[in-house]
Amino acid sequence: MNRACKIFYTQANDYKCEYHLTKMFNNKHMKLQYIFIAILLFTYSIFSQELKFYGSFEQGNLIIAEGNEIKWAWIDDVELKVDNEKVFTFGFDAKESGNRILKVKHEYGKVSLKKIELPTRKYKVQRINNKKQQFSATPDSLKVRIKKEREISNKAKSEIGKIDTAFYKSGFIRPIKGGRISSVFGSQRILNGVPKNMHNGLDIAVPRGTPVYATADGIVRLAADDFYYAGNYILLDHGQGLSSFYLHLSESLVHKGERIKKGEIIGRVGTTGRSTGPHLHWGMQWYTKRVDPARILKMKFN
Ligand SMILES: [Zn+2]
Repeated sequence: MNRACKIFYTQANDYKCEYHLTKMFNNKHMKLQYIFIAILLFTYSIFSQELKFYGSFEQGNLIIAEGNEIKWAWIDDVELKVDNEKVFTFGFDAKESGNRILKVKHEYGKVSLKKIELPTRKYKVQRINNKKQQFSATPDSLKVRIKKEREISNKAKSEIGKIDTAFYKSGFIRPIKGGRISSVFGSQRILNGVPKNMHNGLDIAVPRGTPVYATADGIVRLAADDFYYAGNYILLDHGQGLSSFYLHLSESLVHKGERIKKGEIIGRVGTTGRSTGPHLHWGMQWYTKRVDPARILKMKFN
């Protein structure tokens, strides 16, 4: 009997299993064993339910996971939000490196551990030589304005991560139909030989006035009005710490606190703020971690 049970933990003894089962079914006094085996089979079927992951474990990537009977999930020492349909998400920043441990506890007691190693991703380098920009310094009056705008942005961002529901569950769409990708995520700009900030979004160049659609369901956390860098910009909260940014709009068509559906028109393309021509800068973040919007679209999730 015990030998027959062992096979439910290892697949190597399938043949033995069948032999024992046949033998047991032939024995009129083996009813209890049959029940026991049935329980074990049931337990095994739950245990064998793997977590399902969408997205690859790489720098600048978002991962969506789902599984059965998840009680909680942690990545290193950060507890993840798990919604009532047992979907959760986490991401790796563009420059994040090293190893991570994902821990998931199931309602029936089992704890799954997954070691994640993040390989280094190669990003594009953009060298720009522009003598005019070489000496541009930010005047003090502008610094005050930029500081104030940063505070408004940070306050709006601080509201993200409070929602357990995965609003993004119905999937993601490209916020612009067509257009030319004018700058990819992660590209390192080197201006006159000086490294500048990494490009933390995806730029899509299209004519001014082109509709901008919400990439996923969410709540508007900010519809910023003519900020120095971002111009008119919208920040959407997709739940569980995931957010999307739409910059340089000619106009916003939504207001703070509004619930938005995936595909809804939220604004129109423009060139407000620090922008050299009409385009949408589309950013995605998991909390403060910058993830690649193009990779999110490739993720086969819904
Ligand atoms: Zn951009």
